[in-house]
Amino acid sequence: MTTRRNFIKTSAFASAALLVNKATANEESMHTDAKVVIVKPIVLSTWNFGLNANVAAWEVLSKNGRALDAVEAGVKIPEADPTERSVGFGGRPDRDGRVTLDACIMDENANIGSVACLEHIKHPISVARAVMEKTPHVMLVGDGALQFALSQGFKKENLLVEESEKEWKEWLKNSNYKPIVNIENHDTIGMIALDADGNLSGACTTSGMAFKMHGRVGDSPIIGAGLYVDNEIGAATATGHGEEVIRIAGCHLVVEFMRQGKSPEDACKEAVSRVVKLTANRKKNLKDIQVGFIALNKKGEYGSYCVQSGFNYAVYDAKGNNLINADYHLK
Ligand code: ASP
Repeated sequence: MTTRRNFIKTSAFASAALLVNKATANEESMHTDAKVVIVKPIVLSTWNFGLNANVAAWEVLSKNGRALDAVEAGVKIPEADPTERSVGFGGRPDRDGRVTLDACIMDENANIGSVACLEHIKHPISVARAVMEKTPHVMLVGDGALQFALSQGFKKENLLVEESEKEWKEWLKNSNYKPIVNIENHDTIGMIALDADGNLSGACTTSGMAFKMHGRVGDSPIIGAGLYVDNEIGAATATGHGEEVIRIAGCHLVVEFMRQGKSPEDACKEAVSRVVKLTANRKKNLKDIQVGFIALNKKGEYGSYCVQSGFNYAVYDAKGNNLINADYHLK
């Protein structure tokens, strides 16, 4: 099983990586007053499973494919991997022993699709895309999402693997729901990409918090919370305690901060400050909370920020595929 304690200490922080990216940019465009270097294509994704996911996305991007196709192909890698126990097939179940999945996708034209509390389907991201492309709606949940998936030819499968079932049975002995920060009883893959045509898209998929109440939906399938893309500005995606991300409409907020001129990293930092402030206002303990954002702007600049140490993300551009430790608030 992947463990994020084995961080690959490649590059220090996004700002340093950004300098590298600029030096290897494959496109330059002239603006009236200054030369703007655009890094593209480029793809970012959360956690160390993002490294493998990025490889699949890069396959699409490096052939001048669309960012939308890249992010779907990318996140399908951990979705299909039974050893990744917080996404798709193999994901940990809810407290009733049911694996319920959340996912959403957004393209450069603000087309959106989402599924929540979807059972038995290995690739919720592809169902979300089908919701986007084949229905008049943007979000389907529960049995309605499953019926739609089956009508589209998706196969009904058992997603509960032995390991997850064993952990759930162990958990039942005390039934104490306490999402642990930076231990793999949650984690989401969020992926955002800028393609060779300069278009942005994003995808986000998860099995959510292990042993959540049946029916619980996190931030990951909620456009504006777990993912947001504005093709004029940039894109952002989130991981961590979904309730806290929803509370601040996190990814929309990050994109709006970029619209105000903030760098991707500063935009993520501002959004994390909002989490910090509301947590204090609500008299909750920040130490019990992890929220991490990653963001990418139209120039291919990127960054991230999180509440506490332990969050990393993978970036693939012309320079290669690197894992970066995110900077954090609680030092
Ligand atoms: N954000 C996800 C959720 O709350 C979990 C995670 O990314 O850690 O469902």
